[in-house]
Amino acid sequence: MNYITKILALNKQARILFVENTNLIHEVCSNQNTNRLLKTLLARTVSCASSLTGLLKDNHRISLRISASKRDYKVYADVDAEGNVRGFISDELLNAHGEGISPFTVEQIIGDKGCIQLTNDIGMNSIITGITDMPYRNIVDDISHYYAQSEQTPTWISTYIVFNEQDQIELSRAVLVQLLPGSPITLQHQIRRRITDHKALFFDATNKEIMKQLPFTLFDDAELLENKPIQLFCGCSKEMFYSMLYGLGKEEISNAYISGSTIEFACNVCGNKYLYHPEELKNLL
Ligand SMILES: [Zn+2]
Repeated sequence: MNYITKILALNKQARILFVENTNLIHEVCSNQNTNRLLKTLLARTVSCASSLTGLLKDNHRISLRISASKRDYKVYADVDAEGNVRGFISDELLNAHGEGISPFTVEQIIGDKGCIQLTNDIGMNSIITGITDMPYRNIVDDISHYYAQSEQTPTWISTYIVFNEQDQIELSRAVLVQLLPGSPITLQHQIRRRITDHKALFFDATNKEIMKQLPFTLFDDAELLENKPIQLFCGCSKEMFYSMLYGLGKEEISNAYISGSTIEFACNVCGNKYLYHPEELKNLL
């Protein structure tokens, strides 16, 4: 359903990843009760992050953090080599959607002091973090900018996101182009042009397999490296919500126990619900 098709093309000089993640991004955005602007921020961040899973091996994980000029407005995404993807918006930004930020564009929210932090955890306690500014203020080009600045690997990502009239994700796809060492940088422009010229095909919602076919339509010498499934995976558990339960205070927990009611928490990353029944609340007290 969600997958990456990874190819080598143009005399094996470029690695190109075609990503179908409509269901994943739809789900990520549906789990957070928010508006189109915040869903766009989340969808772009998580879609870019999901395409990065195609570059990971073994225990390698990447955490991406987008911070807007207003520093507590943040969007997070985490991915690993198994194709597990998750993403969420900071509480401050989620709460801001009632504060009249709706008319803003993504560029206005990011502002002139936005920054990207990318943490590479390659296992064996080896963690590398890089930070760059966001000159494009649109997240997607800023992530490409991050790779040029911090990792010195020419990388270009493009996302294709469509909302329906109810502000739900109707289509989400992405493409990632990375040149192999020694390839001329002009090659990237050539690949970008070819992808941009065929942009309409990325928006073909009727064909769910198109991201498996497109690589071979666009590049004559495309060589399939892998087809890899990707999926939303949060990793939350009931134990993780105990701190929120304690946060309610003794009186509220005791009231719930006395009245025989169940306390419920929903994870705002994956939508899972965790219930604490009166018997558990009694043990806690
Ligand atoms: Zn969760």
